[in-house]
Amino acid sequence: MLQTTIANAVSAEGVGLHTGVFGHIRLRPAPPDTGVIFRRFDLDNFEIEAQGKNVARVSYATSLMKQGVLLSTTEHLLAAIYSCEIDNIYIDIDSIEVPILDGSAEPFMQMLDRAGIRRLRRKRRYLKVLKPLEVVENDRRIGIYPADEFRVRCYVDFPHPLVGKQEVEMLVSHESFRSLLARARTFCFQRDIGPLRAMGLIRGGSLENAIVLTDDGVMNGPLRFADEFGRHKALDLIGDLALIGLPLQARVEAHKAGHALHTQLVSRLLADPSLWTITTEETLPASDEPRATAFEPASAAD
Ligand SMILES: [Zn+2]
Repeated sequence: MLQTTIANAVSAEGVGLHTGVFGHIRLRPAPPDTGVIFRRFDLDNFEIEAQGKNVARVSYATSLMKQGVLLSTTEHLLAAIYSCEIDNIYIDIDSIEVPILDGSAEPFMQMLDRAGIRRLRRKRRYLKVLKPLEVVENDRRIGIYPADEFRVRCYVDFPHPLVGKQEVEMLVSHESFRSLLARARTFCFQRDIGPLRAMGLIRGGSLENAIVLTDDGVMNGPLRFADEFGRHKALDLIGDLALIGLPLQARVEAHKAGHALHTQLVSRLLADPSLWTITTEETLPASDEPRATAFEPASAAD
């Protein structure tokens, strides 16, 4: 399989969820072996590679930091790029935070559709996991295990009548991401809005870019999926795994995890080269296996 980039440059603009800062992004083609690189064009094109080594403090969103230059909320855009199997791309941005747009990855998928995908004359390199690695924190955990293809399983459990226990299990591909995850939006609990604002977060949050859950329902329905929350967490997981910097041959299982655990897994994996190898071999041809999914319905959603 050959490496890819995008065929044409495409742009978008909008406000950042946490900073509230308005910014512009432009996706541009990049040559083979570039990887995914953010370039702050407001700072002389300062480059921040979308890689585990640049992960900064992570709480409610994933941020990258290099030499004091910060870039926040990378996960939805990176999830779209990673799932579309784009190996090389420049993400030019003039702001401290990737625009949140509608809170999902769908606007980024539409950008990538407009850009088109171009194959490059260089073999794609995969990170193939050889030995398992797990990160556990109380009842939260995440693990990565050897597998022939990139699969994720993501389990969430929030004590809320519309959420409860939700689980997503899938082979990650352009098609499965588009149909199952891309449209699932960010969410937050109404009771957390005050405390988050007090922490200087969600300054750009609105009913247009996040689902707001009240104590017993949703403030700005309808939901796009009954289990939109579980799907969004799987989207976030894939966006954080993109920081591995190469397509994965591995299975990842996340149980009540979040950005902090996702990025810890990425950092610990990359720090121990005995756990993986880099290969240009595809272990399996693209199969006719159904792009499988198993969703549990939201516990009390009707
Ligand atoms: Zn998210």
